[in-house]
Amino acid sequence: MSLSEISERLRKAEAAAGRTPGGVRLIAVSKVQPEARIEAVLAEGHRVFGENRVQEAAGKWPDFRTRFEGVELHLIGPLQTNKARQAMELFQAIHSVDRPKLARALARLAQETGHCPDLFIQVNTGEEDQKAGVMPQDVDTFVAECRALDLPVRGLMCIPPVDEEPSLHFALLAKMAERNGLAGLSMGMSGDFERAVAQGATHVRVGSAIFGARDYD
Ligand SMILES: *Cc1c(COP(=O)(O)O)cnc(C)c1O
Repeated sequence: MSLSEISERLRKAEAAAGRTPGGVRLIAVSKVQPEARIEAVLAEGHRVFGENRVQEAAGKWPDFRTRFEGVELHLIGPLQTNKARQAMELFQAIHSVDRPKLARALARLAQETGHCPDLFIQVNTGEEDQKAGVMPQDVDTFVAECRALDLPVRGLMCIPPVDEEPSLHFALLAKMAERNGLAGLSMGMSGDFERAVAQGATHVRVGSAIFGARDYD
């Protein structure tokens, strides 16, 4: 696969779902990828990227940003409160807001700096023990809590269980977003982004289908 093939598939999925052409944001997930592959995607003109570790992003993106203008970075992995300040400086959006302590830390920093990235609340739609995210039954309360803190909550995010049909989880997330008046839906990865678009995704997070398999060694 390549960026152009994935973009093409995304356009088709948008058309099939009756969505605005280009209306879904394609986040190219560059975690763990060799810099040469990331640079190739930047050279093709893509500017929206996702990383799941603050440290890793801080190591490579400041340099890329001096060479490529208009980079938009999304944090899609777990965020520790002691890294919140650094995350708010590096990222234009954080998709992993998942607990009151983190929300309060972000709110404090937003007050102090007068600036806050767009925020997505991560929902553990499969109620999996090992997975981050607020439980479905706690979403409404947590959204209200974040709003009371004046945080710019744009939407919800989920990572469906690997062994279940993702569309059910996407539909559930869409329902929770709608009843909370949230327009953003961060859902869909390499294997299921078209199904996510069919369920209303506004942001898809696609890694290996664009860059190739990740090599963790
Ligand atoms: C790694 C990751 C992705 C991308 O996964 P692919 O299957 O490579 O597309 C998307 N979302 C999150 C939260 C991730 O950690």
